[in-house]
Amino acid sequence: MLGRTNNQRYLLWLALGTASMALAVASLLVFELAQRRAIDESSVIRSDSLTALAFQFEREFLRLRQTLSETLSKTESPDQDALSLRYDIFLSRLTLLRDSPSVLLLMQREEYRKVIPQLTPLVDQLDQLLGAHPIDRAGLAHVLADLNGLGADVQQLTLAATSEVARLLERQANTMREQNELIIWLTVAQLVLLVVASGSLLLRQKRIEAERIALESITEELRNAHWRAESANRGKSQFLANMSHELRTPFNGLMGMLSLLQSTPMTVQQADYLQTAQGSAKHLLTLLNDILDLSALESGKLTLKPEPVQLARVLAEVNALMQPLAISKGLTFQMTVPDSTWPDLLADETRVKQILFNLINNAIKFTSAGLVSLVVSERARSDASVTLEFAIQDTGIGMDAKVLARLFQRFFQVEESSTRRFGGTGLGLEISQSLARMMGGEITVSSKVGMGSTFTFSLQLPISPLASLPVAQPPSAPVLVPVTPVSAASLPQDHAIRVLVVEDHPINQKLVGVLLGRMGCRISYCENGQLALQTVQQEAFDLILMDVNMPVMDGLTATRQIRALPGAVAHIPIVIFTADVMNEASEQAKAAGANDFISKPVNIEQLRAVVLKYGLGSTNSDGRLVAVE
Ligand code: ADP
Repeated sequence: MLGRTNNQRYLLWLALGTASMALAVASLLVFELAQRRAIDESSVIRSDSLTALAFQFEREFLRLRQTLSETLSKTESPDQDALSLRYDIFLSRLTLLRDSPSVLLLMQREEYRKVIPQLTPLVDQLDQLLGAHPIDRAGLAHVLADLNGLGADVQQLTLAATSEVARLLERQANTMREQNELIIWLTVAQLVLLVVASGSLLLRQKRIEAERIALESITEELRNAHWRAESANRGKSQFLANMSHELRTPFNGLMGMLSLLQSTPMTVQQADYLQTAQGSAKHLLTLLNDILDLSALESGKLTLKPEPVQLARVLAEVNALMQPLAISKGLTFQMTVPDSTWPDLLADETRVKQILFNLINNAIKFTSAGLVSLVVSERARSDASVTLEFAIQDTGIGMDAKVLARLFQRFFQVEESSTRRFGGTGLGLEISQSLARMMGGEITVSSKVGMGSTFTFSLQLPISPLASLPVAQPPSAPVLVPVTPVSAASLPQDHAIRVLVVEDHPINQKLVGVLLGRMGCRISYCENGQLALQTVQQEAFDLILMDVNMPVMDGLTATRQIRALPGAVAHIPIVIFTADVMNEASEQAKAAGANDFISKPVNIEQLRAVVLKYGLGSTNSDGRLVAVE
């Protein structure tokens, strides 16, 4: 701001200086032109000099007088031709004295006005006398007498001419001097202006240089601040990743133990307490998941991983999960899907499901009677993509305009008691909206109090360029799934699957041990990767469950080293299980050579699925176990 006013002031001064300089140069030009005119004028006067005219006139006047007096002094008849010649020359000088432009100066003089009018009649007389034959000598004598009488006046005229010219020259010299003085002053002024201008330019240059240096130091400071902010952000992300691990580990234990507790004999009151504890734990887990998602979204760490998916299957899974929830509240959940069959579409299945679960969960949560529906409609289709619209409609409490305006804001819930009444975190819609936007969509809402709400979003999903393959869905989702009660179904007991659990945390060891034990597995434990590496070389296993963060040697390094071992041991199925749910975790597991990845808290179903999938594979090759459904 200050810089700008300084700059404006400088420009103003520069403009003023330039204008003054231009004015000085223009004045100089005017004076130069005036001088040039004066020089021209004086040169005219010099070539047609007034003094010369006057002198020549006087000389011819005297010559004429002399010729006349000589003629009259002789007795013989006068030489008329010689007289006429004198007369003509004199007349020409007289004419010049009367008509020449430089005579203007002389005309105002008394001497001129006295002589010229007297001469005119004399010249006329002489003209007549010289034209007659024989010449009238008396007449000539008379004219000569008159001319003699004018002699002194003619002399005065010459002097007057000389003084007039002298005055003129004096005047010109004075004018020239004055102009010269002015030119000197103007030149001095120009010089001063030039000095001032170059001085100010120098000052300005110095100021610009100082500003540049200041700017550079500010840029440097900004760069440093940016770097500090970035490292603080990196620190924050790292902190979140660590915290997520630190939180999940005890959580894993807590939820697992609660679910184990459920299958022990309890009084009605104890069962009620347990249910409350499980409800609180689930809420805490949802909150934890949402906060982690939100921070991943904010730090740009959450990236979509589109893979070819069969949308019909995805929707069937959503239906299967939501149906029981609706039924438990006495609601009808209806899903309407168009008849058409879709090719495999490129989508991040986990994130599409997350949006749908969120919106349908809300619809069920805020509806006490009636219908909740998911209507999927195809809006457009080309060779490259299919555009689908998802509309989630309910007949619930609805929302007024004030609520709608604040709907996608963080931690917004209509009533403060909402969490207590309905559960939830107030983060779901913000996360869903961010995810929808990442996929190129936008969630819009229409709602009326007491009439229900409709949440709609459209996604343009590219058609997978790969051939339609049945896609195995690894449980790679970094979203935690609450532990469900252990199902009674377990694996066949006759041939135990040998599982090596590599886990440093005793509670987790215990939990996984109990769950695997219920499936009939034979379990060994190692506290770190190093021990696991030694154990697998001494004992045979069908499956390794490998934690990531462990002392001595972490799970990823251990996985890489097992894969590098010679012989069949290098091919033992390894499933990484970790509390790190940031995006890279599953990629890192695959890159290290693991077969699969499951996130903590460990879900009994997931555990059963991996044991069935990988544990049976190898035991089958030994011929000890047959496939179990
Ligand atoms: P929450 O975890 O509390 O559901 P959301 O961000 O998903 O957080 O929703 C924010 C708030 O928006 C909810 O607490 C509720 O007040 C309102 N809301 C969301 N969906 C609906 C709906 N289908 N019907 C009525 N109100 C809703």
